[in-house]
Amino acid sequence: MPAGDGLTAEHAEAIGQAYELIESAQGELYPDEVEEAAGRIGQPEWWDVQVLLHFARSLAVIHSGRDDSAHVRTMLDVAVALDDPALLALALAVSAGRRVSAQRPLDLSESAASPLVQAAVLLDDDGGPVVHRVAALIEVALVAHALGLWEIALEQYERTHEALDGDHDPRWRATARRQRTVLYVNRVELLLDWVCAEAMIGDWAGAAARAAATLPGSRDAVAPDWPPSWVRQFDGHLFLLAAIAGREFEGGPPDPAVEALGAAIRAARADDSGRAAILARGLADRFGLSVPQHTWLLTLQLASREPGAAAAARFADELVRLRWNDRQVRMSSMRDAIAVERGRREHDQLRREIITDHLTGLANRRGYHAYLTALLETGPATGVGDYAAMMIDVDKFKQVNDQFGHDVGDLVLARIAGILSANVRPIDLAARLGGDEFVVILAEVQPGVSQGRAQAILEAVRDHPWHDVAAGLSVSISVGLHHGGREELPTLLGDADRHLYRAKNEGRSRVATG
Ligand code: GH3
Ligand code: MG
Repeated sequence: MPAGDGLTAEHAEAIGQAYELIESAQGELYPDEVEEAAGRIGQPEWWDVQVLLHFARSLAVIHSGRDDSAHVRTMLDVAVALDDPALLALALAVSAGRRVSAQRPLDLSESAASPLVQAAVLLDDDGGPVVHRVAALIEVALVAHALGLWEIALEQYERTHEALDGDHDPRWRATARRQRTVLYVNRVELLLDWVCAEAMIGDWAGAAARAAATLPGSRDAVAPDWPPSWVRQFDGHLFLLAAIAGREFEGGPPDPAVEALGAAIRAARADDSGRAAILARGLADRFGLSVPQHTWLLTLQLASREPGAAAAARFADELVRLRWNDRQVRMSSMRDAIAVERGRREHDQLRREIITDHLTGLANRRGYHAYLTALLETGPATGVGDYAAMMIDVDKFKQVNDQFGHDVGDLVLARIAGILSANVRPIDLAARLGGDEFVVILAEVQPGVSQGRAQAILEAVRDHPWHDVAAGLSVSISVGLHHGGREELPTLLGDADRHLYRAKNEGRSRVATG
């Protein structure tokens, strides 16, 4: 196994197959065919593969003109549970994308910006298989592009490039190769859209500079395995970029309407708007290949400048200006939102580190206090039952250290932490207060239950296969348990500590309660 990601060869192969299915789901296969193919890929417990298969299903459904929101929701749910930053970013970007292209009126709670911001920031983490990261970056770029956030889209394509260049894992070779093609095609489409928008506000110099910067080497990306329709579209885009840059395009015009638009653009650049209008007239309905939105709008705008149609041209220009300014405002709020999210995430990470005990991964004393404060502030979730605190101390732990060494002592603490974690629910807390002292808080629990839980923990520690850690090692704990109502929460630990003292005095390896 070449990489340290722990994936078996079969699992990695299933990921590759899922990406292939994602590609064919975009028009080649019907939804039921995708469904059938998805059933044959991977195993149900490979959640990363499941995220991708839900993505493939959603693409097939949306391509057949139906509502794919159920698939997108499932994709997001599985990705959240999986907690893989790249796949979560992918799912968030897909759901943001569906909002951008929604055929129904959105309400305010359905902003596309917020999942997009989260996705972009999640991709700051660059671990995991490169194909997930690339898929997510491309999806974020597509949504940013559709929202007119071109700078952000271009940044994602640059990150995509870096990710692909920095990875040579043979398991992903075929997938990464297809992703690279998508990257080239999408990136050129973005830049053409962008420069056409610049041309529309009359910034021909800016548009020409951006187009000229895009051209060098772009045509070299085309490889024999590109689908012919992609090559034609790619060439069409490069042809128009060359026209805007005032350069010749070696490949020749791929489509008569594109050729005519090239001529209209050259006329407009030379300030001959009358001739540009004549050349552009009727073109917008005649493109033989798909052109970006602003290329199409630019065609209409050029055609609106016919002599005698001053009102139409003025109307078009005013709308263009409003739209452009609106885009600038959205662009800067998006930048702010990303910076805020990045700060929030860093703060969260820092905070998580501050409240975590590094040896065991449990909450530390600070984490315990934070938990207690949150519990007191938010109150009970169900109102059923009380709270219980267990103070836990390892018996004769000094002897373990003395006899087996400090490293074995550390391992013992880590194993005990594992046992405690396995015995608490998400609403409870297990923390290491320091040394060989732990606390467990059970939230909303009935009295008989907490006693049983304490006993179970005591026995789980006693019966643990300690000889795996060191020959001749055995470990036990003493537990002080106190059960009380919500009002007793602040004093629960002190009471539990008194009972622990008794458990120690009465001979250790037991639960004492009051
Ligand atoms: P008792 O049954 O009365 O609790 O006896 P004890 O030996 O466990 O006594 P006590 O709880 O007071 O001792 C805790 C010991 O834990 C003292 C210290 O050497 C050891 N210790 C504290 N922190 C660590 C740690 O991070 N790693 C290791 N290996 N030992 C630690
Ligand atoms: Mg001890």
